[in-house]
Amino acid sequence: MSFFNKMNVDAATEKSSENSVENVKCLIIGSGPAGYTAAIYAARANMKPVLYTGLQMGGQLTITTEVENYPGYPDGVTGPGMMEDMRKQAERFGTDIRFGIATSVDFSGKPLKVTIDNGAMIAAEVVIIATGATARYLGIPAETKYAGMGVSACATCDGFFYRGKDVAVVGGGDTACEEASYLAGLCNKVYMIVRRNELRASKAMQHRVMNTENIEILWECQTEDLFGTDGVEGAVVTRHKGKPEEERFNIKIDGFFLAIGHTPNSDVFKDYIKTDETGYIITEPDSTRTNVPGVFAAGDVMDHTYRQAITAAASGCKAAIDAERYLTAMNN
Ligand code: FAD
Ligand code: NAP
Repeated sequence: MSFFNKMNVDAATEKSSENSVENVKCLIIGSGPAGYTAAIYAARANMKPVLYTGLQMGGQLTITTEVENYPGYPDGVTGPGMMEDMRKQAERFGTDIRFGIATSVDFSGKPLKVTIDNGAMIAAEVVIIATGATARYLGIPAETKYAGMGVSACATCDGFFYRGKDVAVVGGGDTACEEASYLAGLCNKVYMIVRRNELRASKAMQHRVMNTENIEILWECQTEDLFGTDGVEGAVVTRHKGKPEEERFNIKIDGFFLAIGHTPNSDVFKDYIKTDETGYIITEPDSTRTNVPGVFAAGDVMDHTYRQAITAAASGCKAAIDAERYLTAMNN
């Protein structure tokens, strides 16, 4: 069956010829673990979901190699392979999966309106937002050159591959401290490359990293480049950049972890959906409900704490269940 799964379009949707608005019961935006899991549950609940994949079909895991911490794969699985399995499972129950990007929304009334690729308009009874978050990178060419070969933005995901080795974590916030602490338990040595002379992290996190023997903080330092033949073997670091006392030195590392923040992909919804100051969608406690009735959010776009495939999948499941209960309540 094709990705676009046109066979299901007629069954899942109803087209209004007058205004070329397509009416659907359940619209899912995003094709990562959250979106596909929401689709599996929504399809099995007869909600006839239509799912738009966005530019990155399969989500963030399609840019990684091995996933070893997702239950059910005792020998590990490749990220793209796992997302292909999820896509097939969502299609098996009748999800109409289409390539397209939600470019604007109008959640001012019912039905909920979503414009795709600045053209087609979808009018949905419920919308599940599962657009994920994007890790921020420094923007140096070496990050691309060594992607998957020593450069990572997720210590929980990739730290295991660096057991007993030396690594560096860039950033001075809570995430960087958490990643550094986690890596310190696995690695021989962890450098924290911090651009100022203080950490942004909470006092408790600061205390933790400063009292961990194998973490060394490189204050007022910036990464200029990475080097290595078949993967990262070291980083070129500048201290006191642009000042008279500027110095440049190399550190020997096998892994380079970015922890300078994530950008949730919530911009397109921001006129209607409440977010925190970073852009993470705010949901009601113990729920995936957003501030707009009928709109639910799942996965990394609403979760700045865990950001794992399994937690994203779990919240996709919750969003579909919340959406189904909302529809049932509306129709009774
Ligand atoms: P994502 O996977 O980010 O998917 C978001 C989806 O939304 C994408 O399909 C995108 O195309 C779509 N989208 C975005 N904007 C729009 C729009 N406007 N319209 C339509 N669609 C849109 N986690 C683990 O548990 N184990 C690991 O080993 C692991 N390794 C990782 C390795 C790397 C390199 C990275 C970057 C992450 C890794 N993670 C891992 C984290 C994991 O990938 C994420 O937690 C998970 O993918 C989040 O799922 P999600 O569905 O919320 O979002
Ligand atoms: P953050 O608080 O925004 O910190 C980002 C860090 O990266 C800062 O130290 C920043 O430096 C640095 N940085 C940004 N751009 C950089 C660049 N180009 N080069 C070098 N360094 C750069 O992000 P976060 O740590 O991901 O945290 C996000 C939010 O989640 C925060 O509110 C945090 O408290 C919360 N969080 C909480 C916990 C917890 O409580 N356990 C865990 C993780 C995250 P500057 O300080 O110089 O700006």
